Amino acid sequence: MSSSSPTSALKIAVIGSGPSAFYTSLDLLKTNNPQLEIDMFERNPCPFGLVRFGVAPDHPEVKTCQQRFKDTSEDERFKFFGNVNIGTDLKLQELVENYNIVVYAYGSGSENKLGIPGEDHPAVINSKDFVGWYNGDPAYKNLNVPLHKVKNVTIVGNGNVAIDIVRILLASPDSHWSKTDITSEALETLKKSTVENVCVSARRGFLDSKFTNKEFKELLEMEKEGIMFKGWSADHFQTFASKIKLGRIEKRRLQLAQKYSDGGQKVSGKSWELEYLQTPVEFIGDTSDPILLKETVFQQNSAIMNNDNKIEIVPTETLTCKKNELVILSIGYKGEPLQEFENLGIPFDSKRGKIPNIDGKIMREDGSFVTGAYCVGWIANGSTGNINSSVQSSAVVAATIMDDVEADGSLLDYKEGRNKIEQLLSERNIKNISWDDWLKIEQAEIKRGEAQGKIADKITDYEEMLDIAKRS
Ligand SMILES: Cc1cc2nc3c(=O)[nH]c(=O)nc-3n(C[C@H](O)[C@H](O)[C@H](O)COP(=O)(O)OP(=O)(O)OC[C@H]3O[C@@H](n4cnc5c(N)ncnc54)[C@H](O)[C@@H]3O)c2cc1C
Repeated sequence: MSSSSPTSALKIAVIGSGPSAFYTSLDLLKTNNPQLEIDMFERNPCPFGLVRFGVAPDHPEVKTCQQRFKDTSEDERFKFFGNVNIGTDLKLQELVENYNIVVYAYGSGSENKLGIPGEDHPAVINSKDFVGWYNGDPAYKNLNVPLHKVKNVTIVGNGNVAIDIVRILLASPDSHWSKTDITSEALETLKKSTVENVCVSARRGFLDSKFTNKEFKELLEMEKEGIMFKGWSADHFQTFASKIKLGRIEKRRLQLAQKYSDGGQKVSGKSWELEYLQTPVEFIGDTSDPILLKETVFQQNSAIMNNDNKIEIVPTETLTCKKNELVILSIGYKGEPLQEFENLGIPFDSKRGKIPNIDGKIMREDGSFVTGAYCVGWIANGSTGNINSSVQSSAVVAATIMDDVEADGSLLDYKEGRNKIEQLLSERNIKNISWDDWLKIEQAEIKRGEAQGKIADKITDYEEMLDIAKRS
């Protein structure tokens, strides 16, 4: 017999505390159902996912969404469980058993790989590590980037993350970074940096650039701070430019590149450039210094117009070498399944690094849905989309959940929910971080920042966060 009733509580577990987890929770809380209970589980003691550990320190306006996320904590139906890793501290099975609905919002935790010789050289750094390092992710605090020995950096991949990294490497530590929440360690390293030129390299052509015009323009305008755009490989583009019809966004990108390339000749000091139609095939170490590279070997590609008037990228036999002492791979993040997925019959698309779904409803290969299982954000869509797109997809997922609950009474069967989970955490002696604990940590960061004239000074040690949380 089903134990559901119209007044049954709807108990929802959300895994992750990035934008998609918070926006979905906020949308669910809007339903005014007094019987709703949302528990959010975050493996780190601190919330906000890539808003904290991804978004560049000089974009505080992007991080204002954190204020909006705080609204959840004012609702008694919501509870934050920081420092609780689903898979180790609590089994996924325990969430499935104790909640009516589980929302998977745990993001894309790994990085893509090129799979070429030299990729494991210490001077080939993944953007995930590099970004985590300057943003205070404890996992990367000992990265030791040898910027004091480097003149030329190549970034492989040309999305907005690559553009953020160019700013990090070239903007002035004193006038640009010192007041932001960049870590003190990263700031000190940047002060000693000898980097002069950054090349952003991509496999495809100019029109396929992954960065947005807004970020591109922001970087071009840093000309005022003495960071010069050395130009781009326009010659590749010109060969067929007259044959293609450009859209509004592409026209604007071209205008920007042309406008700022004009200053190319007077480049001195710090500069950056865009290179296209080349694929790295090998990283070659510097025999005189094991922590640096000597160069990167690229295979040149060619852009051709196919019979359907579409541009196709084809590899050529030509190899070129680019002198660079450091390479940062910015070729995208990748989602992974949680350990228990297979046992619990939760599908995963390993090729795309995402959970198969329709409007967030997790779908098996045969087209059937997994009851009570939903996903949102990067783990649902692949590592694409920004915080704004999370707003939209979260609204869709929250609406799907509420529609399904209305249509299927069994989704309201009695579940133990929060009480049981708190009991399990206590039995296992796991110190979970509550929202109030987090506010104490945040205040400590702001206070430390004030003393240094910064927005905040992030704590880069989880034990220290837990200590602060313990203080009354
Ligand atoms: C370097 C970088 C810069 C960016 N800059 C911008 C920008 O300026 N503007 C913009 O709009 N967008 C930006 N983005 C994109 C934006 O950060 C993402 O769109 C967004 O964070 C994705 O949200 P999410 O909730 O899906 O995942 P995430 O933000 O990654 O959150 C996932 C959370 O789940 C947690 N988690 C993972 N596994 C577990 C587990 N087993 N148990 C418990 N918790 C778990 C993680 O710790 C994390 O907190 C940037 C992205 C990157 C990588």
